[in-house]
Amino acid sequence: LRKAIDNDELALHFQAKFSSKSGKITGMEALLRWTHSEHGFIPPDEFIPIAEQTGVINPLTKWVIDKALSQLSELREMGYELFVAVNISAINLKERHFSRVVQEALQKYNIPPKLLTLEVTETAMMDDPARALLALKELNSLGVRLSIDDFGTGYSSLAYIKQLPVQEIKIDRSFVMEMDNHGNDAIIVKTTINMCHDLGYEVVAEGVETAQTCETLSLMGCDYLQGYHLSRPLAF
Ligand code: C2E
Ligand code: MG
Ligand code: MG
Repeated sequence: LRKAIDNDELALHFQAKFSSKSGKITGMEALLRWTHSEHGFIPPDEFIPIAEQTGVINPLTKWVIDKALSQLSELREMGYELFVAVNISAINLKERHFSRVVQEALQKYNIPPKLLTLEVTETAMMDDPARALLALKELNSLGVRLSIDDFGTGYSSLAYIKQLPVQEIKIDRSFVMEMDNHGNDAIIVKTTINMCHDLGYEVVAEGVETAQTCETLSLMGCDYLQGYHLSRPLAF
């Protein structure tokens, strides 16, 4: 994995995020792909935890941010007004100069900070909540958007979440994928959307796999939709 960066084995795929009001693409999430020279494709769910354990996550995230912003700047030159979301690990939040890494990349590609969203999972932050809060405040002061990924599956408390300087909540795909067939999941999604709106957050649903889910989420007032029904992650 350490060599993968230098050997050019990594790539970013992008999955579009749609506004449920306009139906238009407003931005995209960068998803890391690793094609190993011998072992072939390795999914991020397999190699990200290893990168976290070994510390490789720091150069890896730096690479992802650089690549995502470089590709966003190419799109901007072509006239597209989009934002990009990058997944970060809680380990990145413990890195001393992480906000500087982010700031330098934004400056390098001349990207307004508000066009970058950083997605972090709640479970990841719980291991050192005080440190995570401090790091998020630092990132927020740069002007980047912050998003809680996989919301609803973690072990954090709402008391903790409400202190975080985040602008967006992403409802975990496990609830969204089951909405059509399980009334309880639809209730959880609807209630989460309402609660998050009342707390001032924008809401993204991930894992939108059917037209019916799309319609239900729009009626529920979900702000952004992401999922295979709308678009799979695509190579740049
Ligand atoms: P995530 O951030 O929650 O990303 C969403 C995952 O759901 C992606 O899987 C995406 O391909 C998948 N997905 C999107 N729409 C649908 C759908 O309609 N149905 C289903 N079943 N799945 C859908 P992927 O690309 O395999 O990534 C898995 C996880 O790996 C991500 O979850 C994220 O936590 C992590 N990851 C990916 N890229 C990076 C990265 O650059 N850095 C870090 N730290 N983590 C990453
Ligand atoms: Mg994500
Ligand atoms: Mg997610």
